[in-house]
Amino acid sequence: MVSPESNHTAEFEFTVIVPVFNEQDNIVRLEKELNDFLGHAIMRTCILFVDDGSKDHSLELLHTVCERHRDMFYLSFRRNAGLSAALKAGIDYAFSPWVGYIDADLQTTPEDFNLLLPYASQYALVTGIRTGRKDGLVKRISSKIANGFRRMMTHDDAVDTGCPLKVMQTAFAKRIPLFTGMHRFLPALILLQEGGNYKQCPVHHFPRTAGQSKYHLWNRLLGPLRDCFAYRWMKKRYINYQIADSNI
Ligand code: UDP
Ligand code: MG
Repeated sequence: MVSPESNHTAEFEFTVIVPVFNEQDNIVRLEKELNDFLGHAIMRTCILFVDDGSKDHSLELLHTVCERHRDMFYLSFRRNAGLSAALKAGIDYAFSPWVGYIDADLQTTPEDFNLLLPYASQYALVTGIRTGRKDGLVKRISSKIANGFRRMMTHDDAVDTGCPLKVMQTAFAKRIPLFTGMHRFLPALILLQEGGNYKQCPVHHFPRTAGQSKYHLWNRLLGPLRDCFAYRWMKKRYINYQIADSNI
């Protein structure tokens, strides 16, 4: 059992969370690209893989990857709990001042963290906007509709909340509530917090070259539309408390 109090990520400035669910055919390339990035990341960086109950060989492969690198760590779930849960676990177990997120399918590149990190001190969240999207028509259209509706409902003004390349100040990230679909509301959830601001930066996008997408029209479009109502409720009820004094 790992300790939720602190761990090796505290020795780094930046922890990159990589959610992994049945991605065995991506792990070799993932190890190489992440390791290349670690060599010239502009912050001292470590990797935290979160295996979300994979049923293929992903977890065994991650064990060997983490044995080879002193700056790569993993957590594994007992059973599949979804991308939002994997991200939340990564945030709960990260103790570096900054946390980031990238998908295991490398549709964005870790190289582009170096485009986001220069803004990480000024903004609670720095998030990518995928340029030249390399997804199929159905995915691009459903994503456009979902983004438009979410912007109207949340007023978050975010162009591409689904972009799998993000950097957050860990203190802000740890206050984000967990619910299924949370990963699509990160800018809106950051804005709820006192002092919560975000910046968007264009990043590169690539086709998925191995493994399969876990999302389809229903969970990409209708789930997030319904969650907009939950967000509006949460916005009305959200509490930011301020500590005046303590001897803790
Ligand atoms: N993922 C996960 N748990 C799930 C579904 C997906 O951890 O239940 C991971 C998956 O391995 C990938 C990321 O979340 O790293 C995004 O998934 P995917 O690429 O299938 O989504 P898409 O890019 O098609 O929206
Ligand atoms: Mg993907």
